[in-house]
Amino acid sequence: MFSYLREPTPRGVGDVGVAFTDRRGGVSVGGFRSLNFGRTDVDELAALRTNMSLLRARLGIAPLQTVHQVHGTMIRHIDRVDDLQGPEGWLGDLVPGGAPVPVADSIVCTLPDVPLAIRVADCVPVVLADVHAGVIGAAHAGRVGLLTRVLQATVDAMASRGATSLEAWVGPHICGRCYEVPDDMAAQAYRALPALRARSRWHTASLDLGAGTQAVLEAAGVRVHRVDPCTLEHPDTLFSHRGSRGRAGRQIGLIWRDGSTS
Ligand SMILES: [Zn+2]
Repeated sequence: MFSYLREPTPRGVGDVGVAFTDRRGGVSVGGFRSLNFGRTDVDELAALRTNMSLLRARLGIAPLQTVHQVHGTMIRHIDRVDDLQGPEGWLGDLVPGGAPVPVADSIVCTLPDVPLAIRVADCVPVVLADVHAGVIGAAHAGRVGLLTRVLQATVDAMASRGATSLEAWVGPHICGRCYEVPDDMAAQAYRALPALRARSRWHTASLDLGAGTQAVLEAAGVRVHRVDPCTLEHPDTLFSHRGSRGRAGRQIGLIWRDGSTS
């Protein structure tokens, strides 16, 4: 069910849980086998609901807060109970009477016991926390997001809510040996963010999204944990957009702050 799991431990303040799901332990079939949380317009609704129930039961967490990701820099803020999606909010208007999932590529939250989720299948899921300030965040950082500074925007938004000492976890994504891009796209990306420079296993221009993510976060003073196996190289355990020629399911990066000890 997880490529990485860090459960909250009581430390006298509300500690955070961090999870990056993988493909295993769900009920979706075919290209979505099996723990799929995305492509909700295509996968079976019943399977999606079961996958979410299994995840929430395993972690003992409240309804996940999600966004409709569009490679932008919009941030969804959650500061009040009124800001929360209900248990089926992640399915948006696929559920009769449901509200559309808010459009954003980042979420920043100051409430305890609220899990934030980013859905990915090659892009970089990043989750962040200042445990002592009680602020958490989650962001979708692909090539476009890195270049449009979605991570800097997220860090700034967290700072505006009191975060002063951030750490971040960088989850599974396509690696620099696999993420081949056209030469002109690579050149533009290298100019904007030199840490992206890489060569593919085929000796062509590629982007190292993990190195780019780490460089951006460290420049912003964030302590970085890399827990990021390559999605393309692990088809049995991770969804990959490229590996499935665009028909992949989605795994999620997840963070929540334990309110029971705060
Ligand atoms: Zn790779």
